[in-house]
Amino acid sequence: MNFKNMGLIEPLEKALSDMGYEKPTDIQAKAIPEVLQRKDIFGSAQTGTGKTAAFAIPIIQLIHQIEFQNGRKSDILRCLILTPTRELAIQIQENIEAYAKYTAIKSTVIFGGVKQHKQVQALNRKPNILVATPGRLIDLCNQGILDLSDIKMFVLDEADRMLDMGFIHDVKRIIKLIPENRQTLFFSATMPDSIMNLANSILEDPIKIAVNPVSSTAETVTQLLYYTNRTDKKALLRHILQERDIQQVLLFSRTKHGADRICRDLKKKNINSMAIHGDKAQNQRQKALKAFKDGKLRVLVATDIAARGIDIDKLRYVINYDVPNLPETYVHRIGRSGRAGEEGVAISICEPEENAYIRQIEKLTKQRIEVAKDHPFPQTDKPLTEAEKKAWNKEKQRRKQEYFAQRKLKKARQRK
Ligand code: AMP
Repeated sequence: MNFKNMGLIEPLEKALSDMGYEKPTDIQAKAIPEVLQRKDIFGSAQTGTGKTAAFAIPIIQLIHQIEFQNGRKSDILRCLILTPTRELAIQIQENIEAYAKYTAIKSTVIFGGVKQHKQVQALNRKPNILVATPGRLIDLCNQGILDLSDIKMFVLDEADRMLDMGFIHDVKRIIKLIPENRQTLFFSATMPDSIMNLANSILEDPIKIAVNPVSSTAETVTQLLYYTNRTDKKALLRHILQERDIQQVLLFSRTKHGADRICRDLKKKNINSMAIHGDKAQNQRQKALKAFKDGKLRVLVATDIAARGIDIDKLRYVINYDVPNLPETYVHRIGRSGRAGEEGVAISICEPEENAYIRQIEKLTKQRIEVAKDHPFPQTDKPLTEAEKKAWNKEKQRRKQEYFAQRKLKKARQRK
């Protein structure tokens, strides 16, 4: 199968060829013909599979054929793509712009965390496709700035993450704002009951498409595990960066504070790094991402939510600074390297508390992770007992409070 025999319109073929896309990926080969037939889709796929193009290409084709036939122009908003994070929203819209560049179709993106003025201006230019995160979308609808009554195609992207992030009520409200008579494309990396219920309530006789289920780790990703102690993680990270001569890496941290701390430690050692997470302003996040993509940043530290969906060309290394307690999260994280057939390396740094998570991950992926031996910071500590864990949690809480109290004080002093 290649794009040439999928019956795509010429402007799309040309754009795909400009982008160097030759063959459709698995999900594209399965989804594009069905979407063109106006079918609902229930897709189980994660980012990195070519999911965006799988829905964007046929949507562009349908809108072009229906609204823009014979040089006609349209100012009607026909498609809404709902996605959980700002980064993902921006990325999807950038892709759509690239795919639609030889058509007259207009698209725009709206998300929270920034002033709405520019987004309102963009909406006034009457896009045909809107990519949005839920909060800002509802906000603009409530203000009467945005009207969804002409929507004919609705994409719910990363539905599981949407639910994890607490967007379920927003999603349900949005669904009420769009016409029932529509085509719906629903994508989720995992399929827990809550997702199945939501999907069943909004899809009509959907075509089910599954590619790369979340338990499968990309074959092109080499996985490595470094067992160490909590207190040696910093030093081990620097050792790994140096020993393996890692030029660029996406490094995952479970928490926002953790991400900031890692960044501070790296900077102290003159290792160029920036963090992206939910507490960072949108422009800071974009700046960090751009610096990383431009090759000006060695380490991009990210929390899971901030990193979800970020597409970085040819990312070779991913490091898990902590081992996630959900094995699916591990699969998502390491899927960020070795994308689109590129070779990747995923390194996990594991402290005694996290040893049990490794077993769960290996159970899910049905693979054993290779253990790096002979490194200078081997694991010697035993996992904490329940009582020690409690004490440690209390101590962490105390440190957190102290940190916030100091920050408040500092701000108050600055104000004076
Ligand atoms: P996605 O899963 O949509 O985030 O896409 C992952 C990456 O694969 C993006 O960089 C896309 O530009 C790229 N990609 C998607 N489809 C193709 C294709 N058919 N050929 C080559 N690259 C692709």
